Amino acid sequence: MTDNAKLFNEAAEIAFDEEHWQKINYSTGCIESNFARGKVNYRNMDLEKQRAYTLRNKSLMKLEKLLVDFETHFNANGGKVLWARNAQDALSLIFEIIAMERVNKVSRSNSMVLDEIGLNEFLSRKNIGLVETSSGRFVLQAAKQKPYHPLSPALHLSKEEANAVLTENFKLKPNSSTKQMVNFMRFKVGNEVKETQICITGANFLLSKEGGVVLTENEGNILKASSQAKVHIVVAGLGKVIPNLDDLSVMLPLLSSHATGQSMSAYNSITFGPSRNGEGPSYMFVILLDNGRSQLLEHERQRQVMSCIHCSACVSVCPVYKNIGGYAYGSAHVGPMGAVMTPLMNELADFAHLSTACALCRRCTEVCPVKIPIDELIIENRNLINTKKVGNSKCDTLLRLMIWHCKSRKRMDSPLFMKKLEMRRFVNLQTWGDRRVLPEFAPKSFSQIWKETDL
Ligand code: SF4
Repeated sequence: MTDNAKLFNEAAEIAFDEEHWQKINYSTGCIESNFARGKVNYRNMDLEKQRAYTLRNKSLMKLEKLLVDFETHFNANGGKVLWARNAQDALSLIFEIIAMERVNKVSRSNSMVLDEIGLNEFLSRKNIGLVETSSGRFVLQAAKQKPYHPLSPALHLSKEEANAVLTENFKLKPNSSTKQMVNFMRFKVGNEVKETQICITGANFLLSKEGGVVLTENEGNILKASSQAKVHIVVAGLGKVIPNLDDLSVMLPLLSSHATGQSMSAYNSITFGPSRNGEGPSYMFVILLDNGRSQLLEHERQRQVMSCIHCSACVSVCPVYKNIGGYAYGSAHVGPMGAVMTPLMNELADFAHLSTACALCRRCTEVCPVKIPIDELIIENRNLINTKKVGNSKCDTLLRLMIWHCKSRKRMDSPLFMKKLEMRRFVNLQTWGDRRVLPEFAPKSFSQIWKETDL
């Protein structure tokens, strides 16, 4: 078992914490009912999903051209596209810009790609202050915790727990209402972003034809922070590019309906490079991040996961996520899409356990707005894991033993105590887990019963 798999098993123990289980299931249940509401806005949701699927697949097929065109057009708009092969490259580029501007504090948005490159840890190592603009992340920063869910980073905290964190750190009144807490954070973040000259965000989409960056949110803090800053740095994975502005009419409503159940998110901004009239950032950089995505693109079937629009619907319905929570994955990409992406974007052996920890219930595939067949891609990953022999070898041995056993009538009919003995000898109780009970053998095999039956 790899170190990552051991960490996964340890973190997954949280599944047996009843209180935690209740909180996660309550919160993910609310999100699920939200996107059930979002469906009402569509007369034919399946047709719209098919449109999105076709659009995203076409984008992937001509990804190289779309990216190069985006670079040309964004640079022509006055911005600057930078390419980063990995997280370290992206962080070095960000640091160069920070050093150039000589600032000691930046703001950031809630974004998976910024977590993927380890932005917060990097800034703290460099002693650069950070303003978290999303409310969930603001609470987590004060509580010194990591995000738990891509869309609702503080999903694992109850309202009372969030209140306790704000009371302890900012002397907010205990028993404050949600509205009071939100107002307080909005005021605090609003003031703090005024002091930051650099705002770092992800991107929801990049528009190839127009050279535009699309950002969608509900709190308005990204818009506030990025428009007040002198420099706006966008970090975007290679798969974020779509052909043009028209495609947003399909993508944005699908994203918001599957993320929060809204027909449209409250704030949608499209930025075509830096400001030309003095309002908004004077400099804008887009860092196009590979970090294992080219490696993922080499897999003919699994590359489809790059169509993901990060709505998090699959995460919120996944029974595995609902039990083990967001910390066990050891990656910014959690839930079903993480189970496909993370092993292929990194060393397969290090994250193979993510693809095997799946019940194949297909809920993720059913909810996905861009029709990614996530369950099939997880099976593809498992095939690859078997071919490359990087999975759990003890599990393989056990399966081979079972096949060997089932192939022989004599062995199947062997006495009960022999079967039990073999089972105990070959099943490693440590990996089986002490909470699971070994299955009981039937006292007699089928053929023994058949022979005794008088037909
Ligand atoms: S895989 Fe599909 S459901 Fe999951 S986050 Fe991506 S777009 Fe949403």
